[in-house]
Amino acid sequence: MDNNITVLVGLQWGDEGKGRMVDYLAKDVDIVARFQGGNNAGHTVVNEFGTYKLHLIPSGIFNKNVINILGPGMVIDIEALSEELEELEKAGISVDNIRVSDRATITFPFHRLEDVLEETRLGGAAFGSTKRGIAYAYGERYMKKSIQLGELLYPEQLKKKITEHIEWKNLLFKNIYKSEETISAEDTIQWLEKFGDKIKKYICDTTYLLEDAAANGKKVLFEAQLGSLRDIYYGIYPYSTSSCTLASFAPVGGGLFNKRIDKVIGVMKSFSSCVGAGPFVTEMPDEEAGKLREIAFEYGASTGRPRRIGHFDAVATRYGAMVQGVDEIAMTKLDSLSGMKKLLICTEYDINGKRTDKFGLTPELEIAKPVYIEMDGWSEDITGCRKFEDLPETAQKYVIKIEELVGYKIRYVSVGPERESLIIMN
Ligand code: GDP
Ligand code: MG
Repeated sequence: MDNNITVLVGLQWGDEGKGRMVDYLAKDVDIVARFQGGNNAGHTVVNEFGTYKLHLIPSGIFNKNVINILGPGMVIDIEALSEELEELEKAGISVDNIRVSDRATITFPFHRLEDVLEETRLGGAAFGSTKRGIAYAYGERYMKKSIQLGELLYPEQLKKKITEHIEWKNLLFKNIYKSEETISAEDTIQWLEKFGDKIKKYICDTTYLLEDAAANGKKVLFEAQLGSLRDIYYGIYPYSTSSCTLASFAPVGGGLFNKRIDKVIGVMKSFSSCVGAGPFVTEMPDEEAGKLREIAFEYGASTGRPRRIGHFDAVATRYGAMVQGVDEIAMTKLDSLSGMKKLLICTEYDINGKRTDKFGLTPELEIAKPVYIEMDGWSEDITGCRKFEDLPETAQKYVIKIEELVGYKIRYVSVGPERESLIIMN
């Protein structure tokens, strides 16, 4: 990569393969910084060290010279982070180069409890939350009630704040949810001490770090969690996540202000997948979805939940690329489509008899019917292809058609989960 500041984002519902692309691109940068989200993410990375599922730690961690930042825009469960650090260390991967922003928000066990209580209350109408407390941690941040990671370094002040906070939370649990479970300030303080001790050494002001590094010509790659369509502002609200997944937010959520973004790379899957509730216009019927789910192994990296599967949706992905202001695209999992006789691509939505190629609000998406074009499939195993010309002609046509419909340049096509299973286009 010859550019200095790059942002890597997802163009669809998440799980597009961002982790594997960051792992690949990290060799050319000095810093990888996650700018939003929490441990509801799951990025699977397959490289010479094996197969890893990352949740909080940026996917640049396997490149030992790269500094990996968990940015101010994140919400961080310090228990989950400790576990993830331990797992990597056990596998012999150095975590010395991790830096955690003092401005990131702590996700607490009581946020997880609140998440479970609310999803239980909602019953059949639940959002399909990952129950990691993410929405509640972000909610408190906006209510100005949350605790920042850096407060761990001021234990006396923190204890006082926690005690007051727990009083408030218990009122909510007891009186609204009629929960048998309450939480104690002592337990919470113990929890903070136990896991805080493990991660204190990584906490710093990552903004000064990034500003200095970028001013000295270092290369930075920002990493997003989830995708455009889960963005809190532009996604399928309220079936979105609780933070901004867009490249425009990377400078804020990552902490770099005096250098402009040079390039936005968007990752999209060659079909559609989506976890949890919400409108999903091109969803395949169960039987068809089941087959592709097994071939493509579409199960949540964080939760193990089977992902919903659909045909490629050019309406959704074009919108996803537009709101990211994408410069180039990485298209993943083309190999998973080998053996499909016909491939459908959604080019328009039919909404009450009217056709549109625009992606609108949730109530509109809920009644939208997909309008498809049909393409021929291919039966060859393409995992060994490293040049575009090596792909069967029908696979080439599928990629070119999608590039034309989405309207942005496809720069990479991945044909397997491994770091090097990648075709780089001219
Ligand atoms: P992320 O959340 O965007 O990082 O994506 P995930 O890691 O959650 O999901 C993508 C899944 O697809 C992971 O299991 C990857 O190992 C896998 N994957 C990524 N690219 C390819 C590819 O080109 N082919 C195949 N077969 N699997 C891929
Ligand atoms: Mg994922």
